[in-house]
Amino acid sequence: MSFVVAIDGPAGTGKGTVTEILSKKFKLVNIDTGATYRCVTLDMLNKNIGIDELDKIKDLLNKIQIEIKRENGKQLVYLNGEDVTKKIRSKEVSELVSQVSGIKEVRLSMVNLQRKMAEGKDVIMEGRDISTYVFPNADVKIYLDADLEERARRRYNQNKEKGIKMSYLEILENIKKRDENDKSKEIGALKVAMDAEVIDSTNMSIGQVVREISNIIEKKKNEIKLQKKIYKVRKETTWKKFVRKIIKVVLSTIYKIAFRVKITGSVPKDGAYIICSNHINYLDAAAIVLFNKRKVNFVAKEDLFTHGILMWLGHLFDAIPIKRNMQDIEAMKRCLKVLKNGELLGIFPEGTRKGMEKNLKAKNGAAFMAMRANVKVIPVGIHGTFKPFSKVYINYGEPMDLSEYNKEEMDKATEEIMERIVMLTKKED
Ligand code: C5P
Repeated sequence: MSFVVAIDGPAGTGKGTVTEILSKKFKLVNIDTGATYRCVTLDMLNKNIGIDELDKIKDLLNKIQIEIKRENGKQLVYLNGEDVTKKIRSKEVSELVSQVSGIKEVRLSMVNLQRKMAEGKDVIMEGRDISTYVFPNADVKIYLDADLEERARRRYNQNKEKGIKMSYLEILENIKKRDENDKSKEIGALKVAMDAEVIDSTNMSIGQVVREISNIIEKKKNEIKLQKKIYKVRKETTWKKFVRKIIKVVLSTIYKIAFRVKITGSVPKDGAYIICSNHINYLDAAAIVLFNKRKVNFVAKEDLFTHGILMWLGHLFDAIPIKRNMQDIEAMKRCLKVLKNGELLGIFPEGTRKGMEKNLKAKNGAAFMAMRANVKVIPVGIHGTFKPFSKVYINYGEPMDLSEYNKEEMDKATEEIMERIVMLTKKED
């Protein structure tokens, strides 16, 4: 999976400079999307094609060749084989480009090209619509902004350095017009993505902006690293089995010292089942896992895996991390695989601790999986205060067959599971 950093914002906010620095720092391929629209504009100017000559523009788009290359550490832009790095920044191109980029056919063609340029690579892309349209699922989304006058001043100084002749007022007018055009485009209009970080650089130096974005990128990279660690399935090996056995003995002994565990009922020796229990304490899943002769693959919220020791235990016992408040397809696939392999799956239908007490609706995941994999559900009622040396009751019920329910009756099936669980929580000896 490639890593995408999207930097959007109006002209003159320093996107280009910041993007170039960040691309080197994080070894990301820098794709200046504005340059692609500038190339189309320059090609039209070279061929004397007017803004209304759609057929000619379409023909031009079919033939155009745009390449962004890196030579001797510098980014160069080639149009139909010619180095146009400087030409595309000319006054003529700057004045026309936002109108050209507003033509639907131009936009669709350039977005296509930009996506191809990024394919399979770790990239940083700057433009107007990267985080909203080109890559709406970008890993990092930044909206860089600054006051109009400050942006015009920056562009004026930049042009002076590059030998491009435009007065401050001309630039101010040009940027104003481009802002208006860019914000009112039919496709890919300039706007802040809902999940973008907005940075106003009016009173910030380039270094400060780079630092702020660097922190965001680093944070995201660490999150991705952690996610990979959490979701990496550790292979079952003889060593893993051995360690699991030892840890099970140690932890269950400690558990028995801490609580007086009373277990009634049992789980069949083999075959796939879903163990569904109430959830009153962090320690109840452990009771099911530790006092079961068979391995129970428990579904656990992914934040539990962020703590070192818990992550280690989670992997040792093949717990399945799940993202809450969304449909976690990956977790569902792993659950179904466990059942297909004839193993035990553990789920808390309440979804969270003391869900029943909080009057939360039980989740349909267990019923869904039981129907999908055609397996029975074993209800379990746990009760106790979990105070040191107090009694903890773990009552296993008879396996429940949900095959008479159909897909539309998932709520009903879940209700039945919950009723059985509640009944089992009342059993004491
Ligand atoms: O970033 P730059 O100023 O070089 O962009 C030139 C023009 O290209 C912008 O004014 C805008 O009209 C257009 N553009 C766009 N979408 C992008 C990048 C640039 O519409 N992603």
